[in-house]
Amino acid sequence: MSDASSTRRFGPCTRFIAGGLALLVAACGTTYAVPRVSSQSTEVANAIFAEEQRTGSTSSTSQQPDAADMARFTRVVARVEPVAESVCRRETAGSGRTCDIRVIIDQDMSQPNAYQTYDSSGRPIVAFSRPMLAEVRNDDELAFILGHEMGHHIGAHTDKLQSQAITGALVGGILVATLGGDANDAVLGAYAGTAVGSMAYSQTYELESDVVATYITEQAGYNPVTGARFFARPKPQQTSGGLSFWGSHPPDRKRLATVLETVDQLSANSGELILAR
Ligand SMILES: [Zn+2]
Repeated sequence: MSDASSTRRFGPCTRFIAGGLALLVAACGTTYAVPRVSSQSTEVANAIFAEEQRTGSTSSTSQQPDAADMARFTRVVARVEPVAESVCRRETAGSGRTCDIRVIIDQDMSQPNAYQTYDSSGRPIVAFSRPMLAEVRNDDELAFILGHEMGHHIGAHTDKLQSQAITGALVGGILVATLGGDANDAVLGAYAGTAVGSMAYSQTYELESDVVATYITEQAGYNPVTGARFFARPKPQQTSGGLSFWGSHPPDRKRLATVLETVDQLSANSGELILAR
């Protein structure tokens, strides 16, 4: 990695070390504006939740996708992938990031989930477990989930979380040392800083991925609000952790309300994403 790219990757987050964790948390945010949720969107989200909890069910009692689920996967990936890759190329132009995203089925994962990761060459991968394909109820839901995972790549969340974990560790260690702790305390402080640094961001990044997903879903010709009803349904067994679909996620109602707000935000901005300020 060149010096220039190291600076770009770590610069905004490390600059505020001296200011401590509070400033750190404010220092490196999202690429795109994540709309504030109004009471009106919250009410609409709550109504959708009530309806889904009353009438919705998990789509499948079986944990395995049937032929129709597999056909949906092929159909939706064919429509969403080119859109997401073109958004990625446009939004990350000049950064050297690859936008050739590979969408796969994780044959081994036994719970309903989707996640974004990288292969050994740095190529982005979006993976769905087979139970997740069985769980998805319609094309809009699958398009939204796919858009969400691609949003993690477009938002460079893995890179940012790594640099924030490092910065958090430094800040935690420095704070303890400054307060007169010994070397062991500083190590504990570093661990705590890592955790705080990562947790503070992961929820924001989940919402940013939902914003990008709303955009990609619309651009691919699907309905993001129908897709985000996935959040409102009675839950299948969930897998947590990392950048999985349910990662260290914000409350589902907030995610749905954020999607509702984003639809309004996009339509007020000629359908285009708004950069964070
Ligand atoms: Zn996510």
